[in-house]
Amino acid sequence: MPAPFLHDLPERRIGNSLAGRLLRVIFSCYLGVAILVTGGQIVSEYRSAHHRLETDIQAMERTFGQGLADALWNFNSGVLHGILRGMAEMPVVVGVEVRDEQGRVVESAAASQGAQPRWFSLFDKPFERHFDLVYMDEARRPHPVGRWTVRSNDGIALDQVKDTLIVILINSVLKTLALLAIFSVVVHRLVGRPLAEISAFVKRLDADNLGTRPLQLEARGSHELHLLVQVFNGMAAKLRRVFDDNAALMRDLKEANATLQARVEERTRDLAHLARTDQLTGLSNRRELDEGLARAVLRASEGTARPGSGTAGEGDAALSLVLADIDHFKSINDRYGHAAGDAVLVAFADVLRAGLRGGDALGRWGGEEFMILCPGTALEGARALAERLRRHVAEAEMPAVGRQTCSFGVAELCPGETVDGLLLRADAALYAAKHRGRNRVEAAKPPPLDRCTAA
Ligand code: GH3
Ligand code: MG
Ligand code: MG
Repeated sequence: MPAPFLHDLPERRIGNSLAGRLLRVIFSCYLGVAILVTGGQIVSEYRSAHHRLETDIQAMERTFGQGLADALWNFNSGVLHGILRGMAEMPVVVGVEVRDEQGRVVESAAASQGAQPRWFSLFDKPFERHFDLVYMDEARRPHPVGRWTVRSNDGIALDQVKDTLIVILINSVLKTLALLAIFSVVVHRLVGRPLAEISAFVKRLDADNLGTRPLQLEARGSHELHLLVQVFNGMAAKLRRVFDDNAALMRDLKEANATLQARVEERTRDLAHLARTDQLTGLSNRRELDEGLARAVLRASEGTARPGSGTAGEGDAALSLVLADIDHFKSINDRYGHAAGDAVLVAFADVLRAGLRGGDALGRWGGEEFMILCPGTALEGARALAERLRRHVAEAEMPAVGRQTCSFGVAELCPGETVDGLLLRADAALYAAKHRGRNRVEAAKPPPLDRCTAA
């Protein structure tokens, strides 16, 4: 599954945020510590209250023990009752009783309702302490007379420290709440808000605004989040540069591509031209002439179907062909060398080119043989052209050799005639010109009827 893009990330709920978790952890730890400390304080307070309780009861024994023994020895129930009542009024006492030596209850007193432990009644833990009653006569001889028992309750100890406990608890709750509030604000400011700013910044980032406006945290400082922001800003700036470099690279590539394409097109055109051009003379080559001849014959055949006319007349439908062959060219090569022969070929091509009419197509047919296609030209017109060219050649000053002559064969396409038929007749006319002494123009005879199908 692909990783979600930044924009697709869900909003973090506050409970799931880092600040929220920090608060929960801190608060839980603090609460645990607070409960332990408060519990310890409460236990310690309770213990010291219990100790006070015991101390008070011991003090009672020291204070009233002798009085009780005397009263019992003397059977003074009034004093006995008074002392017990007085003791019963003491806050640590729940009840008190005196027994004689046989264990019979002689006198008892219970604390009034107000002195009973009420608070924390759940934690009531009654206990009693027994003391022997010993009468000392004048001679300091001890006489056991009975026992007295003090009943108390640890709940009284709790009663005594309840205010302190309440203060401790309120203190702890208030401290906890205050710390929670302070931590909420501090954690939100130091962690929650900067993280939210960083998150919003990263979500806003895209290729257009990358690195344009660096992130600035509202909270001042130089802790890890500020360092993180610096790293983010540096990364955004670096990415911006990479993006810009890439864009420049793309532009350069496109330009280079366009230039390359233009060059390829130009080169292709050059190659296409070269493929159809004779390298020495710059004229159309044999291939171009072949295609041009086929096209011209086709066009002429489509327009020459004039019934009854043996040959096509002047006009678009006519097509004539002139073959020109330099006379005794081999001897130029032999006498002046191949390079001189080449130079004559170039000069000869120039003379022919200069003598052409608009619409005529000139090319090198092969060796020292040239062809002129004359669309829209009947035999006489072509013969006249060939005659003019022959004169120009004969009068031209050729390099190294001076004057040079040329023979011409002319033929006109007859209706239905093929390219080969036309070529054969033009070639035959050229052969005739050579045969009849060179430096002359010969026109081809019309073809035999079976090769010429007038429609
Ligand atoms: P003719 O009057 O009967 O046409 O005689 P010719 O010597 O011109 O004809 P032939 O066919 O005997 O010789 C043609 C010569 O043309 C032979 C060949 O070496 C030469 N030739 C063909 N192409 C080139 C070329 O490109 N450069 C040069 N220098 N010579 C060429
Ligand atoms: Mg030849
Ligand atoms: Mg020749």
